[in-house]
Amino acid sequence: MKLLPFFFVLLYSFKCESQELYKRCGWGSFVSNVELKYEGKNETPKWSLKSNFNNNTIKYDIPLVFHFILNQQQINKLGGLYGIKQRVLKQIAVINDAFQNNKDTALIPLAFRHLTGSVDIHFQLARVTPDNQETDGIEIKVTTQNGISSNGITGSGIGFSDVKYNSSLGLSGWDPMSYINVWVINPLADNNGFNYSALTISPLLLSEYKSIPFQELGIVMHYGTLGSRSDSSEFFLPKFDKGKTLIHELGHFFGLKHIWGDDNGKCLIDGGADDDIEDTPIQANSTSGCPSFPKYDKCTSNKSGIMFMNYMDYTDDDCSLMFTKGQCDKISTNIYSTDILFSLTQHPNITANNNTNINYLISPNPCKNKIYIIFTQPSLGLKKIELLNSIGQNLDAQIITSQRGYYNFEVSQYSNQMLFIKLVFDNKVEIKKILKNE
Ligand SMILES: [Zn+2]
Repeated sequence: MKLLPFFFVLLYSFKCESQELYKRCGWGSFVSNVELKYEGKNETPKWSLKSNFNNNTIKYDIPLVFHFILNQQQINKLGGLYGIKQRVLKQIAVINDAFQNNKDTALIPLAFRHLTGSVDIHFQLARVTPDNQETDGIEIKVTTQNGISSNGITGSGIGFSDVKYNSSLGLSGWDPMSYINVWVINPLADNNGFNYSALTISPLLLSEYKSIPFQELGIVMHYGTLGSRSDSSEFFLPKFDKGKTLIHELGHFFGLKHIWGDDNGKCLIDGGADDDIEDTPIQANSTSGCPSFPKYDKCTSNKSGIMFMNYMDYTDDDCSLMFTKGQCDKISTNIYSTDILFSLTQHPNITANNNTNINYLISPNPCKNKIYIIFTQPSLGLKKIELLNSIGQNLDAQIITSQRGYYNFEVSQYSNQMLFIKLVFDNKVEIKKILKNE
């Protein structure tokens, strides 16, 4: 009997905490809602491959625009306008590393590492608006509301529709044939009390359900999942602090399904669905947390088990590590065969950046634990990065053998002082000053 009050306290605490937990994304329940609302699929794709498309002309430069719809308090939690810009740049670096597979793959279990795929997509911030004005690819609407419900009434009335219109609570998307629109918001729970950290309306979904308004195409994500953590004081949703949410949603955008097939725990043998990818093991249901390898379930109970570290599962950011070759082939095929996706690769003028001074950003400055060198475009010609102390002595260095979106140095061990980052390119050397500050 003595244990009872303690038990109640535990139960109560868990309930409070669970109300703030977010699912990786709302894709499964969203598709169900779409089916209910639009009474089944439109079997004739509205957007099909145009016969005059020439595969050889494909360039995988894709423009992104970020629309922030937040109140002032939430903007402050991201570090204000400067913080928002840093988060966006880091997010771009993370998604480029993921799709191009430039990242460190050592964390991927050996049994799956050889299956890791890449697709040569270069995501870049838009530099030109649909009205041909200069932009940094970020626009912000300061609201007085706490957040946006996934059950809005504007447009489709589903999928955070309200944030996608100037006339409603949000910002209208830019031409979906030219830009991937990303809305960064504080999502509120849906009618069933579920919280989703993100939701995507993909070109393929639009082709199946043609009643979904064209301008709602794009990705909605929680502002606490944007970017990648560089300091423990930064605001992030717990477990979503490495930028994996947008990788997962872009996977959906390019036509990937969840790795377990969204079949509520079924296997193929009992009528379940697959993700239609050859090299991902059959999986019963989503995986949460950060399991140890190998992990088995009722659909795959031998060999290397399920691929819980795949970006299209629901594991924490720390454990979400790879697309497979099969998934990357699917993405490429979809780009070739879906005219919205193909069209997104055909606008190099939108991402052309003539200002070489903003090719990279060194952040945070002042820094405490780690300093990041984030490239807004591929770091072409970069040979070496050095960390120097205030009198020019070398503290650390990295020889660049493969181009990445960003690099970092640990600086927590140094005393407070002025430091320098020296970037050695094949045709120039640039030195930037940073402040190490506890
Ligand atoms: Zn998803």
